[in-house]
Amino acid sequence: MPCPKGINIPGCFAAYNASYAHSWFTGLSQYFTASAVRTNEPKLVSNCVKCGKCARHCPQHIDIPGRLDDVRRRFQPGPVTAVLKAFGKTRSS
Ligand code: SF4
Repeated sequence: MPCPKGINIPGCFAAYNASYAHSWFTGLSQYFTASAVRTNEPKLVSNCVKCGKCARHCPQHIDIPGRLDDVRRRFQPGPVTAVLKAFGKTRSS
């Protein structure tokens, strides 16, 4: 994958879809796995710097950074981000 931040783009989208097809908790669990949240350097969608490299590689011309914002809103609302910050997993809001 082209992401310089190491974001698992397909995994994040799969988790997002699972959160609607199954349950939010199922999707969240998949998202944390896809983001390697248990490691010292998680690859959370909130790390996206919107460089656009992924979108330039997309043959379907999908606005991937924009869709990752949907993933961030779905899985990193305020309370989840607060917990991630408390555990030192993210600095971003
Ligand atoms: S726009 Fe975000 S997800 Fe896409 S390559 Fe850049 S940092 Fe990665």
